[in-house]
Amino acid sequence: MNHYAVFGYPIQHSLSPRIHEQFGRELGIPLTYERRAVPAGSLAQAVQAFIAEGGRGANVTVPLKTEAYALATELTLRARRAQAVNTLSFEDGVIRGDNTDGEGLLADLAYHAVALSGARLLVMGAGGAAQGIIGPLLDAGVAHVTVWNRTASRAAEWIARVGDARMSLPVAGDSYDIVLNATAASLGHAVPPVPDDVFRGALAYDLAYGPVARPFLAHARTHGAQSVLDGLGMLIEQAATAFCVWHGVRPDTSGVRVLLRGEAA
Ligand code: NAP
Repeated sequence: MNHYAVFGYPIQHSLSPRIHEQFGRELGIPLTYERRAVPAGSLAQAVQAFIAEGGRGANVTVPLKTEAYALATELTLRARRAQAVNTLSFEDGVIRGDNTDGEGLLADLAYHAVALSGARLLVMGAGGAAQGIIGPLLDAGVAHVTVWNRTASRAAEWIARVGDARMSLPVAGDSYDIVLNATAASLGHAVPPVPDDVFRGALAYDLAYGPVARPFLAHARTHGAQSVLDGLGMLIEQAATAFCVWHGVRPDTSGVRVLLRGEAA
């Protein structure tokens, strides 16, 4: 039996075990998948302990994605580009880091028939999740990405590092087709303090999912968002890509979408 886990803090509400176990059942691949609470600064220890127990791979979530990037001894191209890792594989002493967040978001937007080509985006956040999604969004042909971050200097440094002329800091009065909340604010029951008019006519998408995403999505609707989505679909799709990294086959996600929509509501 192959062992997998998700590391993060907080982690008790993660749906990743349910998703991976269900994919395994559907595809006849036996596996175990557990949650491990790992505070910032202790990922290396947690990974070594898990490898010693026979662990084959792990997902990494808030606040550990940049720590996982530093810990990996090999990186895939998409992880190097993101400078953040959400999927680790352990084999023959190698810790391989990958990032499936961007592919997960794009798969979910495609599922909901959201067009990215030519779209004007506001991305809130400059942490691991934001870094993971930016490359695939730019590749999808978006027209412009405005980056807002609580710590504005971090957004400015990130924009300079990516070096794509389509990215810039916020300008008052700008309007957007899609507003992505890639901050951890919802996990702390907060709404990022952006101007109310950014939501007018836009799709508001919170990468967080379930009840914690509700205040942000309600706030967006109140301020004119045309439609709202939480990050459950992205979670399922990034898990499907991580499953493919570990097992060589990408599961169909429709069954898990139906199964979990009720549980995360
Ligand atoms: P992270 O690396 O810890 O980054 C956190 C980001 O949130 C930073 O930009 C931080 O700003 C900002 N932030 C934190 N608290 C805030 C607040 N109260 N108000 C405004 N901004 C705040 O976390 P992450 O890995 O990027 O994750 C971010 C979110 O994405 C989480 O909600 C996570 O659950 C979600 N996520 C979902 C999926 C999915 O599959 N659905 C995948 C990945 C991530 P500063 O730079 O100022 O600290």
